[in-house]
Amino acid sequence: AKKMGKPNYKIYTKTLNDEIMEKVRLASSLRKALENNEFQLYYQPQYITRTREICGFEALLRWNSPEYGFVMPGRFISLAEENGFIIPLGDWVLKQACLFKMRLKNEVINCLNISVNISIVQLMQEDFVEKVLCIVNETGLDPEFLEIELTESVLIQSIDENLIKLKRLRENGVKISLDDFGKGFSSLSYLKNLPVNTLKIDKEFVDDIGLGTDITDSIVHIGQKMGLKVIAEGVETDVQYQHLINTNCDMVQGYYLGRPVPEDDAIKMIVQQLGY
Ligand code: C2E
Ligand code: CA
Ligand code: CA
Ligand code: CA
Repeated sequence: AKKMGKPNYKIYTKTLNDEIMEKVRLASSLRKALENNEFQLYYQPQYITRTREICGFEALLRWNSPEYGFVMPGRFISLAEENGFIIPLGDWVLKQACLFKMRLKNEVINCLNISVNISIVQLMQEDFVEKVLCIVNETGLDPEFLEIELTESVLIQSIDENLIKLKRLRENGVKISLDDFGKGFSSLSYLKNLPVNTLKIDKEFVDDIGLGTDITDSIVHIGQKMGLKVIAEGVETDVQYQHLINTNCDMVQGYYLGRPVPEDDAIKMIVQQLGY
């Protein structure tokens, strides 16, 4: 075993070094990317389940890098969280999403929500609430149309401070959605105290529809009992969609109904739906 250990160790060191170097490279590219306007928001429609009408869009970040190509957030969000870059990047996302909603408002009469993913690193900033309200104010958006998506598991860290911030956002009209719901460890008593509007059922449970487990049904039920809206994400098949209609899940989102698209395409979808 000792003989095997040494070369293994060397290989491991090399890979780890490469990984670190790659991270350093990616991190410095990220900073330049914001200055060079390489980020872009895609918008994925969210639908009223029963009517299949679009009721909102979730903003999803993309990076058009001349060096790395079209980069999905899975490759850079956690890095941006580690080195703090998520703060300026998150500000940019929030502002762009609000501007998109204002553009929608100018084109058609609508009451569409705009959902924005917020990292725990952003929420932990002392002035997070002021920042959000400032951006909302600056863009002229009615805060009732803004929904921030937070994953439930991260909220439990510093729950008291987070609760205060979320309550203040709610008091100012901003809506809050619990993303990836069901994957975290939240107990129902803790959920009861969270000032949230929406539960977002994680795709993992939507994938299981039709396989005998009915976690989605239970979450819809909990949501109804608590007076919350429930949205299912990652809906990919008609079987899943029909099941969600039958269980009275309020809203759905997923490739089956609509993929994330660039801003102009999202506007076209709405113009078409409203028959302008
Ligand atoms: P999420 O918030 O859970 O977003 C859902 C992800 O599932 C998105 O991946 C979306 O494109 C994808 N998706 C939607 N419908 C389907 C479907 O039917 N099937 C499958 N297989 N996938 C579907 P995406 O855009 O790659 O984003 C991944 C994650 O990156 C997001 O997960 C979110 O946690 C994070 N993220 C994206 N944009 C932002 C952002 O602006 N800020 C922050 N902090 N995080 C972001
Ligand atoms: Ca989300
Ligand atoms: Ca999610
Ligand atoms: Ca997720």
